[in-house]
Amino acid sequence: MSKLKKEIVSLIECRKYDYNLVKESVEKSFEDLGGIGKFIKKRDKVLLKLNLLMKKKPEDATTTHPIFAKALAQVLIEYGAEVIIADSPGGPFNTSLLKGVYKACGIEKIADDVGAKLNYNTNSVEIKNEGGLILKRITAIEVLKEVDKVISVSKLKTHGMMMFTGAVKNMFGVVAGLEKAEYHVRMPNNKDFSNALVDICVASKPVLSFMDGIVGMEGAGPSAGDPREVGVVIASTSPYHLDVVATSIIGLEPTKVPTVQRCVERGLCKGNFDDIDLKGDKIEKFILNDFVIPEIRSLDLLDGKIPKFLRDILNGFLQPKPVFIHEKCVGCRDCVNSCPPQVIEMIDYKPIVNLDECIRCFCCQELCPVEAIDIHRPLLMKLLSRL
Ligand code: SF4
Ligand code: SF4
Repeated sequence: MSKLKKEIVSLIECRKYDYNLVKESVEKSFEDLGGIGKFIKKRDKVLLKLNLLMKKKPEDATTTHPIFAKALAQVLIEYGAEVIIADSPGGPFNTSLLKGVYKACGIEKIADDVGAKLNYNTNSVEIKNEGGLILKRITAIEVLKEVDKVISVSKLKTHGMMMFTGAVKNMFGVVAGLEKAEYHVRMPNNKDFSNALVDICVASKPVLSFMDGIVGMEGAGPSAGDPREVGVVIASTSPYHLDVVATSIIGLEPTKVPTVQRCVERGLCKGNFDDIDLKGDKIEKFILNDFVIPEIRSLDLLDGKIPKFLRDILNGFLQPKPVFIHEKCVGCRDCVNSCPPQVIEMIDYKPIVNLDECIRCFCCQELCPVEAIDIHRPLLMKLLSRL
């Protein structure tokens, strides 16, 4: 009988964004993974795909922390690689948005400190994806094709639609700007959308994945939750296996997370620790059983738990919905511009949503800069989601 292939996941304790401590942790992670040279050649152009969702301060824990990015970039540069930092944040993919996001998130300064390049190429290219299940080609930011290696550098956070956003979902940011909205419109149900996220990760081919789990986000992630110390740098040879470990750390059953479910169905990982070679510090040091996870926001997640006919009936009137808090709204129109099916309109400078046409993607909530959008769920839905 052939031996089960295991992927390495390294856990290194690091409890604050002190540059020297973080750099030391990143170096230990590389040792656990078998050394940089196993994955990166000297003079390789290496893309660090950070999570730079929107203009947020590092301490908000929405984006990959600049000290984390700096430490990783510095280790790679010292090794002899050329580092390029990129992401396609929410909103239109243009130079002015990129400038604003790099600056607000503290990335502009650290790139300058270590000599990493910031991506300002806003072209997109088509990439064939033979390993894709439903996306046989993706339209991605051009820099993805211009580099030799890609490293996913995600943030440990919850996510309203997908429950968790980790190494796999981080790669959705290689889809340029508002084209992300198209994916939501084309795949409004959770299962298709999570398969698309896995497809995009497969197409992006990250050689390594790092996760900034020093301070994560709990509650209403990915942008309106609360920072929570987790104290760990996670690194892996596989984004799929990294997500299994990261979800376990925050007290989630990995196979309840849509992207992990899809990876298990597709044979990319087992969804448990059987095919994982854990290295570094003991996982018990980091496990949090009271990490606040967002409530399930889609009846798709009830698939298989209740009869289909009942699910279809319930689907019509038990859907969660976005609720706009007009007192908090500053009228910036970001929700209008980020709504994939364009069902929000501004009336008297306040957003009004047509719920009949809303696909419940929650992009509006994700990108509202002042947390003026809540997600409301009927009580019965809350009870069903616990089944
Ligand atoms: S994104 Fe938020 S603040 Fe901006 S218009 Fe929409 S609800 Fe108002
Ligand atoms: S209103 Fe919000 S949740 Fe509904 S489709 Fe638009 S962005 Fe998605």
